Amino acid sequence: MNLTHFRFETDADGVALATWDMAGRSMNVITPEVMDELGRIVDEVAGNPAIKGCVIASGKETFSGGADLTMLQGLGAEYARLAGERGEEEAMRFFFEESRRLTLLYRRLETCGKPFAAAVHGTCLGGAFELALACHHRVLSDDEKTRVGLPEIKVGLFPGAGGTQRVARLMQTGDALQMLFKGDQIRPLMARNMGLVHAVVPRADLVATAKAWIKGGGSAVAPWDVPKFKAPSGKVYSPAGMMIWPPANAIYRRETHDNYPAARAILQAVYEGLQLPMDLALKVESRYFAKILRSPQAAAMIRTLFVSMGELNKGARRPKGVGEVPLKRVGVVGAGFMGAGIAYVTANAGMEVVLVDQSAEAAEKGKAYAHKLVSDQIMKGRAKSADRDALLGRITATADYAALAGCDLVVEAVFEDPRVKAEVIAKVEAVLGPDAVFASNTSTLPISGLAKASARPQSFIGIHFFSPVEKMMLVEIILGRETGERALAAALDYVRAIRKTPIVVNDARGFFANRCVGAYILEGHLMLAEGVPAAMIENAGRQAGMPVGPLSLNDEVGVDLALKIVKATKAQLGEGAVDPHQERLLTALVEGEGRLGRKNRKGFYDYPEQGQKRLWPGLRDLCGPALDPDSVNFTELKQRLLVTQALEAARTVQEGVVTDPREADVGSILGFGFAPFTGGALSYIDFMGAAAFVELCRTLEAKHGARFAPPPNLLAMAETGATFYGEAARQAA
Ligand code: NAD
Repeated sequence: MNLTHFRFETDADGVALATWDMAGRSMNVITPEVMDELGRIVDEVAGNPAIKGCVIASGKETFSGGADLTMLQGLGAEYARLAGERGEEEAMRFFFEESRRLTLLYRRLETCGKPFAAAVHGTCLGGAFELALACHHRVLSDDEKTRVGLPEIKVGLFPGAGGTQRVARLMQTGDALQMLFKGDQIRPLMARNMGLVHAVVPRADLVATAKAWIKGGGSAVAPWDVPKFKAPSGKVYSPAGMMIWPPANAIYRRETHDNYPAARAILQAVYEGLQLPMDLALKVESRYFAKILRSPQAAAMIRTLFVSMGELNKGARRPKGVGEVPLKRVGVVGAGFMGAGIAYVTANAGMEVVLVDQSAEAAEKGKAYAHKLVSDQIMKGRAKSADRDALLGRITATADYAALAGCDLVVEAVFEDPRVKAEVIAKVEAVLGPDAVFASNTSTLPISGLAKASARPQSFIGIHFFSPVEKMMLVEIILGRETGERALAAALDYVRAIRKTPIVVNDARGFFANRCVGAYILEGHLMLAEGVPAAMIENAGRQAGMPVGPLSLNDEVGVDLALKIVKATKAQLGEGAVDPHQERLLTALVEGEGRLGRKNRKGFYDYPEQGQKRLWPGLRDLCGPALDPDSVNFTELKQRLLVTQALEAARTVQEGVVTDPREADVGSILGFGFAPFTGGALSYIDFMGAAAFVELCRTLEAKHGARFAPPPNLLAMAETGATFYGEAARQAA
């Protein structure tokens, strides 16, 4: 056979080995060409009497990440073209057939009459794992890197190449739904325990084990094609089924608030599919898949969470002319809450870290945090004690600034006080080499202002982490007025090395993320001041798609911090820059009641030693009479909470703080959990359409005030029908 993306050979026992090894790519990915070649392999195995069966393995370091999502994006464009030319019905027929090609191919493999076995090492996700699921036997390597899973839900899709049907026939329905909803990557032993795979063996034995199964007479009939097959949870319409489905619906609502059509489609496809024989079940799955593939949520999530995030991670904003910046030794000054986390993620990425604080004890305390984090990893079986020793060996904790000599980059995370920062900048720069870059992790102080204390402002930049540093994937890079290209390249190379996602913004109060978050929290405060019951505010936040309500969020970041920011803003920008209702509420909480947030177990919520947090009953007395809940327009609460953030994001574009919509979208989801199904704060506007968004703003402005007034860029976009992405593309051209 003449193949480009597979090697195909048959051994003396008549067992074929198809090694997937795509030409010209470092990873295997499912493309139309791969589907064609796999189809030919299936035909050859089925039709050649000398071949007993076939093992599918990978010739790369890892198996495959699944389908090429840009291919799926392309299908959408083709649909639009056909709909325009030949009408919706024709377009939909094409779309349905095209989007189920993989389903039919896998089903052909499964029913071709010869046994197929998947031999998997490394990651095997999405459409690639669906291929493995269609094989009659699955063997995994016991390697640390091996993972299987169906993560489609994370980009607003679901496993539409048989995944929902085969998983639901391999395990209890509840477990299957959970796996499909979560989209987690599953380790080998767990996968075996879940019944997803048959064997876990050393990598060296992988192919031989899979072949041995075929030679030993492995069956070419999938369990669900054996007559009288019974699904593990039995029939859908049975007493047992009724124990599963009503709660499953409730859990779906609780977890998604019905914002994710793909999650709903999983429920439907499994529920309906389990009542049908496999071929019909697959057809049902395909119908839902075609529908979801055309949903705005999938389009938005694929664009932001797959395409844009991938581009930013690969350095889309990196200055072209600057070579790679060596980053062997990184200094972290200030070993407090943030500095300790920064030291950990840096050492974890293999760099040498010099961790400086005012005293050796304070520096050691910061290093102890790294010790705690690796120890937690060891407890979870994700690291070995040798890893801990090596990581801690890379961190030098000291009070001596001279130890920073030779650092390629220094990140400061000392107190948020311009005088302290200025002093630290001078002391650090005194020992740094000429090429070293100085970065500040400040969250509120403008970078250009801090850079005034620097003797080399071209090498001065903001690298703004989010807390907790080890968990949050976003890093905001802030350009001061004089920041040079090399400093930007260094910051981007650093963020890439610690495997986080960077966005690059221009200097302004609150940068990007904190401005939008601030608007969300402010809206919660103002609703409270209006008399909206606190529980409704919190539920509105979550139902709008935010991970937590605005009051919970404020408790996490600190009610006192919010008050501090309000006061600082007022001092610098005057009375008009802060909302008096918010100031009154925060002052009463912090100064009147000593309620600082989760940190002292008293904020908008009470945090009892035992049991769950509860909204503080005293809130009502503080805020005046409550509105009758039935008189509150709940839909409008949800709109307000998203619109206020999206508006703030649009203003950052208007002001030139954000220059690339991809960064606002990715930044808003990774930085503060902006309703992911929208694709991010600007996609929220783009998908709604600027005109509709402006109209919504006008309605809210009339009822709630000038903070909902749309900025000029949105007004112009509403006039012309432009989008943020369209505008960015136009400017780039
Ligand atoms: P923190 O109080 O926990 O830590 C500050 C540390 O700096 C302390 O250990 C202190 O001893 C040390 N320090 C002070 N002066 C020093 C000096 N002259 N030399 C060496 N060390 C010195 O504060 P934090 O929450 O880690 O915040 C640090 C910085 O990070 C601030 O600029 C803050 O705005 C920013 N930040 C904080 C968060 C957050 O969520 N806490 C998020 C992003 C950014």
